[in-house]
Amino acid sequence: MIQHVSSKKSVMSRAYRLVKPYEVVDTVIEHELADWMVVVEPLMGSICHADMRYYSGNRRPEALQKKLPMALIHEGIGTVVQTETAHLPVGQRVVIVPNIPGSLIQGIEPEECCPACRNKEENYCYHGQFLGSGVDGIAQSRLVIPAGCAIPVPDEVPNEIAVLLELCTVSYQALAHVAEQLQHSKIVVFGDGPVGYLAAAILHHVFHVSKDRLLVFGVVPDKLAQFDFATCELVQEYDFTEGNTHDIALDCTGGRFSENAINQAIDILRPGGHLILMGVTEERVPINTRDVLEKGITMRGSSRSSRSDFYPVLSAMKDPSFQRTLGKLLPEQSTNIASAEDFDKAMENAVSHLTWQKTILHFHWS
Ligand SMILES: [Zn+2]
Ligand SMILES: [Zn+2]
Repeated sequence: MIQHVSSKKSVMSRAYRLVKPYEVVDTVIEHELADWMVVVEPLMGSICHADMRYYSGNRRPEALQKKLPMALIHEGIGTVVQTETAHLPVGQRVVIVPNIPGSLIQGIEPEECCPACRNKEENYCYHGQFLGSGVDGIAQSRLVIPAGCAIPVPDEVPNEIAVLLELCTVSYQALAHVAEQLQHSKIVVFGDGPVGYLAAAILHHVFHVSKDRLLVFGVVPDKLAQFDFATCELVQEYDFTEGNTHDIALDCTGGRFSENAINQAIDILRPGGHLILMGVTEERVPINTRDVLEKGITMRGSSRSSRSDFYPVLSAMKDPSFQRTLGKLLPEQSTNIASAEDFDKAMENAVSHLTWQKTILHFHWS
């Protein structure tokens, strides 16, 4: 009897998988390798709040149960180690796009995939996968991703800057919908954390919003002092009663701060204004819908970018002044990761010592 041997190739990967909150194990997993995929060895990653919420179990129990065990991390860069794609030779440095549309997973045209892909909104693809959220993320030695989700990094952009690209594209995606208004509007950002900092940085360096049109509200003077390209105010000292002064507002606070920020944003927005929600909260947030109605405010949520958002931001990253701005988010030293224990320790440290700067992981695979 002739046995049919599958022609599909596979790749073994060493993964640091979170099995339950605060527990990471070293595992070997197997990936299928289709012709349109490339194999990437992760070089650097950065820890996102989403990773921390999984690690510390700060997600709804159903979500945790469904998604674990899983390797975390969706912000990262790597080196191509196996490829059939001409423009991605072995050794090529790439940024990893974690939001993988179904069309690229199956090797079909976007039109054949789903209504979102047909509508050119592949970040909302019905059949997509997101690394480190439902499928194994970047904390593994061999990542198999479609060639379209590996973006070559220009020589002018150093690793430490490129590793911040995914986070930048989330702001870019949110802002691209109001790109035209950004040229003349007054814009306000709520939040002095990394999300607010990057959103403001993108507004300034990518959309060229000048300091006099860009207002940032924060709580901590030391954090606000970093925003030297924006006008800054302490939110607790600002008088919101005047209102109607700004055209576009971004909530980059999240958690228990969202309620105040969103309602203050509704106060400060002019009629016809736009409110962009980027702060993540697991709780419902009571908001002043009366004024949303009265002012005709448009609200839009955004948390995931797609491939097309990576190119314009990566190109802007060649600019040394943008690099200096981004550099302030980098720690003095990156954290070396050579084992599951190292990874576990880095995650525990990140959740127990929340810092303004990002935690940058430098992977060493043996
Ligand atoms: Zn993230
Ligand atoms: Zn789709």
